[in-house]
Order: sequence, then C-alpha cells, then structure tokens
Amino acid sequence: MRVDVLGVGFDNLTMAEAVEQGMKLIAEEGCHYVVTPNPEIVEVCRENPTANEAVNGADLVLPDGVGVVKGARILGTPLKEKTPGIEFAAHLMERMAAEGKSLYLLGAKPGIAELAAGKLKETYPGLVIAGTHDGYFKEDEPVVEEIANSGADVVFVCLGAPKQELWMKRYGPSTGAHLLCGLGGSLDVFAGVVQRAPAVWSRMGLEWFYRLLKEPRRIGRMMKLPLFLVHVYGQKGKKKG
Ligand code: UDP
Repeated sequence: MRVDVLGVGFDNLTMAEAVEQGMKLIAEEGCHYVVTPNPEIVEVCRENPTANEAVNGADLVLPDGVGVVKGARILGTPLKEKTPGIEFAAHLMERMAAEGKSLYLLGAKPGIAELAAGKLKETYPGLVIAGTHDGYFKEDEPVVEEIANSGADVVFVCLGAPKQELWMKRYGPSTGAHLLCGLGGSLDVFAGVVQRAPAVWSRMGLEWFYRLLKEPRRIGRMMKLPLFLVHVYGQKGKKKG
C-alpha cells in the first residue's frame, strides 16, 4: 500500500529496503522505473495528468526530501524516512559494482555524463559504465537505440522533472534495460560540477535552502513549496471534516 500525498503514492521504505527493492527489479524480467518526487514535482503532478500518470506508474516512488516526509506526517500517514534519489543511486551503484552490473548515464550538459562516468568508476570499482549521452538531444529514437545496443542493465535518466519521468515511461521498455532511475541534477553532482549541501544542512532539513542560496534562479520553482504546504493542510482539513 502506498502513502498518498496530494495524489502521488509513495512507497513507505527505509533506504536499505528501497535499495533491496531496486536490486530485485534489476534481476527481474521486463522494464521497471524509479521516481523520486519532491514537493515541487507533487505540485506539477496535481496540474499535469500526464506527469501524474508517469510518476504514479513507476515501480518505486521514493520521497526525495524532507518536504514530502513532513507532508505525509501532517496528513497522519507518516513515511519511514526520506530516500533522496542521489543517495539511493549511490547505494545502488555500490551493489551493482559488486554484482558486475552495467550502467548507462543519460542527461545533463554535453561532457558532464562522461565526467561523471570517470568519477563513478573510481568511486565504485567494478561498476561497468555501458555508455553516456548528454540530455540535450533532439530525437529520442537514436538515443534509445544507443542504450539498447549498449546492453545496459540500468539507466540513470537525468533530464529534470517531469521530462525524465515521461521519457522513462515512454521509452524505457525499448532500451532493453531492466531498471531506469529518474535522478534530476544528480549527474552534475557526480561529475563534481555542483555540490550538495553539507550534511549538517541536510540533517536540519534545510538542503533546499542551501540549494536556493547557491542557485537563486530556482526561486520561481521553489515557490511551489509553500503552495505544497497549503495544499497538505487543505487535504488534512478535508480528511478531518
Ligand atoms: N537537463 C537535461 N536536458 C534537458 C533539461 C535539463 O539534460 O532538456 C538536465 C540539466 O542539465 C540538469 C538536470 O537535467 O543536469 C536537471 O537538473 P535540476 O537540478 O533542474 O533537476 P531537479 O532534480 O531539480 O529536477
């Protein structure tokens, strides 16, 4: 049973359980995908039925940050913990390296995915990088074909939301991969061109604020955060009434 937060159903898992589940999906037949919505994306899903369908249609829906976890708690249906996409990805790569699984990196500006590939191979010896492609392509089919030819077990799809969710739903099965993960700006972090907030900010639940200070142009998108809280309290009121 998923935990509903404003129309998006989240899987209630610890990080360890989520990674276990991810490894199971890699081993299974067929194509699966993982999404990690934050409050911004939940708000997008409220307005955009196609995005909503792509997000809720995922095999794993993980709460990316503290906002969704707080929302679930306010609604009286708490989630075990936040499971940020980038941390989920890191744990998954560790396990993939141990099992010799291969990974394709798709997204970010030209050159970034290659840079990330080099760093990831150093961090996770044994991890096979099947290929890379930037996220600013015009036609989808050649990219899908390249991934299929690479034989990748897993694809990290980092095109920003909700583009990556729509892309995974539509093209995932044609890539031949068993698991695709929508991970937003993670390749920029893996490549070392963007820094994550220091742990102390994250522990205080202020990672979003650190990010805003670093990238003030995000303010427009982040205005969705107060809106998210307004909607959460609205839904709570309805539940009571
Ligand atoms: N991006 C991309 N193709 C696009 C639009 C964006 O590859 O058409 C990349 C962008 O370069 C960045 C990532 O997608 O690396 C989105 O980052 P952002 O921080 O906006 O993602 P979020 O995690 O907030 O959705």
